[in-house]
Amino acid sequence: QVRVRFPPSPTGNLHVGNVRSALFNWVFARHYGGTFVLRVEDTDAGRNLAESYQVLYDSLTWLGLEWDEGPGVGGPYAPYVQSERGDVYRDVAGRLLESGAAYRCYCTREEIEAREALLPKGAPSGYDGFCRNLPAERVAQLEAVGAPSVVRMRVPDGDIVFDDLVRGEVRFAAEHVPDYVLVRANGEPLYTLVNPVDDALMEITHVLRGEDLLPSTPRQVVLYEALARIGVGPGRTPRFGHLPTVLGEGNRRLSKRDKGSGLAEYREQGYLPEALLNYLALLGWSIAEDRDVFTLAEMVEAFDILRVNANPARFDPRKCEAINASHIRLLDVGSLTEALVPFFVGAGLVADPPTTEQHALLAAVAPLVQERIQTLSEAVGLVAFLFVDDARIQVEDGLLSAQSGPVLAAAREALAGLQTFDAAGVEAALRAALVDGLGLKPRLAFGPVRAAVTGRKISPPLFESIELLGRESTLARIDAAQG
Ligand code: GLU
Repeated sequence: QVRVRFPPSPTGNLHVGNVRSALFNWVFARHYGGTFVLRVEDTDAGRNLAESYQVLYDSLTWLGLEWDEGPGVGGPYAPYVQSERGDVYRDVAGRLLESGAAYRCYCTREEIEAREALLPKGAPSGYDGFCRNLPAERVAQLEAVGAPSVVRMRVPDGDIVFDDLVRGEVRFAAEHVPDYVLVRANGEPLYTLVNPVDDALMEITHVLRGEDLLPSTPRQVVLYEALARIGVGPGRTPRFGHLPTVLGEGNRRLSKRDKGSGLAEYREQGYLPEALLNYLALLGWSIAEDRDVFTLAEMVEAFDILRVNANPARFDPRKCEAINASHIRLLDVGSLTEALVPFFVGAGLVADPPTTEQHALLAAVAPLVQERIQTLSEAVGLVAFLFVDDARIQVEDGLLSAQSGPVLAAAREALAGLQTFDAAGVEAALRAALVDGLGLKPRLAFGPVRAAVTGRKISPPLFESIELLGRESTLARIDAAQG
């Protein structure tokens, strides 16, 4: 039974690198019919705002990465929020101490630094194990005077080796893995303790996460082994797969401060969740050599963690946008209409929820914009002219000139007398009046009409737009532009 987890800290806006980790875990679980666990790592309590938890849940829900166990849905290993698991960590830390897998360390920072300063240059840094084997009498003395202590892991001698699902064999030399702190002097358990303890207790089988966490893996491997010895969890170390680094501008790791690194931006601009996930999947994985666009279901079907590439992956916002455009093209009209609604509501162009007429107009507009937008929000600007009062149309500067007058007059006459006011009829009438009648090239003939009706140089197809706008508004706008 595959059991994977996504353990974010609730720090607000999710980083797209973290979304990629969530995606790969979710897809891996779905591929094998396994379980996707959401666990909130919030032991660093000072940093977490109540609303950040909700942002996290909403984000995953919006993405469609539903969790099988975790906050809200519960599960056999509840609670799934680490700040509610303090007793568990205290108990495990106590058992690690009792078994000798961990020990109390009374060194102050100053003492540690003073000893480090005495080491020859190039010697491995990190804690020197001073308190590893303190005599019992010394410990008793220190405890008697209330000396503060941290809990340190007793890292066994010998290199630490594990077989990474993405990178193959990974080896850490023993001297680079010092005895590390599990519990602070104030009793606060650290990530180094709580993350493996929960992985063990929640019977996680595979840990797929970013390469930035690779340095913590040898420490965790050592801890899993100790946990197995004291009977915490099922007694096996999970398999690890470290996903490639995501690079931003200038070959640096895409950081929280980089534009385009936060999930919220994508949602606001009108990315489809499935398109964003499609793009993030490409950061390390591909479905086939010459294929970039696929659905989540196709990814689930084809996913193979052993085919994830270990090389760093560049985050390319333009490619991300192009993939979004492809997914927009793939939607049926009904789905595209629904996807557009929040953007038109947000822009104040339709009611919330839209009236029946507004909804019908959006549905009619959807096919006109479908091939022309990269993101859903772009549709608003393109077709706002269909949703506002005639009086609010302001023609952009430079689109009308002295020559526009006769063109608009002829267009008005042709449209006023038109029998069937539909796109084909509008086109025939305008061609007859302007191209044949006035002898104008199509661009010069239709430009002023487009400007008068939409206010803009670029619009969806003109004749369809005029049909949707209707005769009355079209004539009113032409009159206003002439006036
Ligand atoms: N809370 C850690 C993070 O968000 C979890 C890392 C992990 O997957 O082990 O970085």
